[in-house]
Amino acid sequence: MKEFAGAAGLVLNEPLLFEKGKKGRSGISLPRRDVEFSELDETLTGSGPNFPDLSEVEVVRHYTRLSTWNFGVDTGMYPLGSCTMKYNPKTNEKQAALPGFAGAHPLLPAELSQGALKVMFELERLLAEITGMDAVSLQPAAGAHGELAGMLIFHAYHKSKGSRRSKIIVPDTAHGTNPASAALCGYSPVNVKSNERGVLSAGAIAAVMDDETAGIMVTNPNTLGFFEDNIKEIAEIVHAKGGLMYADGANMNAMLGIVSMGELGIDVLHLNLHKTFSTPHGGGGPGAGPICVRKHLEPFLPAPRILEDNGKYYLSYDFPSSIGKLHAFYGNSGIIVRAYSYILSLGPELKKVSQLAVLNANYIKERLKDTLHLAYDRPCMHECVFSDKLQAPLKITTLDMVKRLIDYGFHPPTIYFPLVVHGAIMIEPTETECKEELDLFVEAFKEVVREAGEDPELLYSAPHRTKVRRLDETGAARNPRLTC
Ligand SMILES: *Cc1c(COP(=O)(O)O)cnc(C)c1O
Repeated sequence: MKEFAGAAGLVLNEPLLFEKGKKGRSGISLPRRDVEFSELDETLTGSGPNFPDLSEVEVVRHYTRLSTWNFGVDTGMYPLGSCTMKYNPKTNEKQAALPGFAGAHPLLPAELSQGALKVMFELERLLAEITGMDAVSLQPAAGAHGELAGMLIFHAYHKSKGSRRSKIIVPDTAHGTNPASAALCGYSPVNVKSNERGVLSAGAIAAVMDDETAGIMVTNPNTLGFFEDNIKEIAEIVHAKGGLMYADGANMNAMLGIVSMGELGIDVLHLNLHKTFSTPHGGGGPGAGPICVRKHLEPFLPAPRILEDNGKYYLSYDFPSSIGKLHAFYGNSGIIVRAYSYILSLGPELKKVSQLAVLNANYIKERLKDTLHLAYDRPCMHECVFSDKLQAPLKITTLDMVKRLIDYGFHPPTIYFPLVVHGAIMIEPTETECKEELDLFVEAFKEVVREAGEDPELLYSAPHRTKVRRLDETGAARNPRLTC
């Protein structure tokens, strides 16, 4: 490989702000003092915080340098499977920063928040349309929070029917949050194995579904990147025993406006606005996990709900069967504006997002399948899963390969997940990468695998070009330093 994105660069060292600066330096000019000078009374204030004294340029350089140490989707491809780390158009940031939205105080009365309420009201309808569901609440703050809302709705529904159920079916390809959310609501997760094609068979569900079981949580497409093609039959089996269907919609990027979840028999679905609908994520920032339901579950949605009367929008708590309030005010409003802007700016082109995401994943799958072991050799949706099986005789692991990939300028894909594939390498290129970038990624991976055969030491000690080398991840997990 002649050229690669991580080849060269000027990455500057930078100490802590507290190690920089000199007493008396300042980045601002205060107005001339017009009162008499007096020292702080240290018996009242203690010794005060020990803030460093820095000039403007020291502060600017400090943060600019730190920002170059980070890898983000604005720097390069971020192929984390199951995470949909796609590039988010900057126009959506711009709309969210409009003073009317960014400056709106959550305690303003509804009469003075008509714009924000209208955006929320309309976004709920757009999301219902896109997913084929009937009603939406934007309250949950993340995917896992949406799952929790969904499980509370399951419970409220069964209670309303006078039935007590204690179990939830969760397939082995599920995201870890699924069984966790079910358990948090007091349900016992029942694990079901996917079949040799990497999907659920109707028979496996029929074998465990009974009238003690509240329903099932399925991710569709699942975390192997496959569409659960027996889903309608599974829905019939679950519904026939009085159960409900929950769909984890974190992978909705694969089927926007193409698959109607409602028609598949899904009763409750969450979306991750911070994955599919244009909010950058991964740094622990705010997200949104709207919950979408079919008509018969609408009374249980979180309150307050946004209603409209003659062009006026207002919040209503008048929903006696509601599971209640899940978030302060009405959710993370900045994320909601971005999603609204994203959907409106794409319009009918929204479908293309998913078509390109699926095309890109299949392109990577085909181009890498002779280099890496493909876990299931069949067409995928938005992500594909390889493993380190072919490199095992060389004693090279998934971790070694993806650490070396960093030297070529690429963020590693998701690894060792899903658990059903030993040594999994899960790649989700997303729709926003062009063919040239995908080719660079493929060439980099091929180069890493070639090196594995020729000079395995290079991989064992990778990455070599980064600011910090291979970290002791086990040590960090076992002995976390929670204070500095
Ligand atoms: C990301 C993800 C979740 C959890 O979503 P958060 O917003 O991180 O809570 C759940 N299921 C799947 C399949 C996911 O990819």
